[in-house]
Amino acid sequence: MKRRDLLRRGAAAAIGGAASAVGASAQQGGARVAPAPRRFRAYIRTDAGASVRDVRMLPLRDNMVAIRTEATQCCYTIVNQALGTGAAGGAGGAVAARILGHGGVGVVEAVGATVTRVRPGDRVLVTNTPNCGECYDCLRRRGDLCQMNPANGEPLVPIGELEDGMPVHQHNNTGGFAELMITYDWYCVPALTKAPAAELAVLGCVGATGLGAVTTFVPVRFGDSVVVMGAGPVGLSAVQGARIMGASPIICVEPIAARRELALRLGATMALDPNAEGDGLVQKIRDICSGPTDRKFLGGRDRTRDSDSRGADYVIATVGADAMPPAVERGPDPTALVPTRQAWEMTRAGGHLVTLGLPRGNLTLPAGAWSNRGRIHHAGQYGGVNAKADVPRFVRLLDDGLFNAKVIVTATYPLDRTREAFEAVGNRTTTCAVVTF
Ligand SMILES: [Zn+2]
Ligand SMILES: [Zn+2]
Repeated sequence: MKRRDLLRRGAAAAIGGAASAVGASAQQGGARVAPAPRRFRAYIRTDAGASVRDVRMLPLRDNMVAIRTEATQCCYTIVNQALGTGAAGGAGGAVAARILGHGGVGVVEAVGATVTRVRPGDRVLVTNTPNCGECYDCLRRRGDLCQMNPANGEPLVPIGELEDGMPVHQHNNTGGFAELMITYDWYCVPALTKAPAAELAVLGCVGATGLGAVTTFVPVRFGDSVVVMGAGPVGLSAVQGARIMGASPIICVEPIAARRELALRLGATMALDPNAEGDGLVQKIRDICSGPTDRKFLGGRDRTRDSDSRGADYVIATVGADAMPPAVERGPDPTALVPTRQAWEMTRAGGHLVTLGLPRGNLTLPAGAWSNRGRIHHAGQYGGVNAKADVPRFVRLLDDGLFNAKVIVTATYPLDRTREAFEAVGNRTTTCAVVTF
């Protein structure tokens, strides 16, 4: 029997044809095919708040994949959604019930009739951004801006119903805080590894964002200086990427003492507290990164105090606005505009500034220097990652022990305690929480 026919049978079984399930599963290495009607539990946001609810799955669409979730990481960007403290909503338009999350790791349970890339039994990462490979942006190697993202107008599709018949959609068309993720195949990246699910889940969003920013989006050159603003999971992944690329020094700026410790463990050569450094932070980093000499014919540069020849070769800004007041050390500015502006100021003329955080408000910069002094600004979602090409390489770094996700994952929770997980993330009392199934 041809593989395509097997896939069709798998899809039929997912929709309701239990008879073909046995054949499909036997010939695909024991892969499980979803029985119908399939029910699953999910952490769902409605106008009434967020809680774990039962969902009845709708028939699987031809171009979608049903994935049994193993783990999903709790991203700071959705703290308000997850705690029910902000307005219900998100990219893709208003929906009555939304499964929260934007990806995770799991095992393919069933595929629609036209899906050819993945099969039941495959372990996959469902990534934060899609990478269809065909749209305007994917064809220009900007998969992080893929047009299939709901942020670019792609509608959310219903994949299930609540007990009362209310249609259920998923954030990003992927969800994540659910026993099943039902998504398009262009969100799926093979994760052909036995790595622990909680560690792998980090690569669905924050880990790949930090790693990708410095290894594939704006590859750092060995021996060049790197500053990472913020030691949350994105910053700690960028620190490791900079270490892997051979950067030196690697300076991490972070208000929370426990996170500065993690940064030093993972490869930062120095960790600074922005509250202790105050207004002197930018000058201090410019001093450290201004090289050993001002003798220009010896490879030196102008080291006078106000010269913007002084500064880091690369600055990676990962600080975002506070979703809620932290229960631990607070940063200098809840909007994150101050650290973002500092990041620009500590980038040397001709250096690279990569922004990954989500500050709130409008940034003011000196227009002449912005226009003429050669600082190169790179902005990207998901660290500018092209998921299909880049994420398998990050999985290998994890497998080979070069990327340490174990240290980044500071807490794990079951689905029933998802709210608690997000409270810890919002309070910043844990660095990276992961819900495991
Ligand atoms: Zn995320
Ligand atoms: Zn695309």
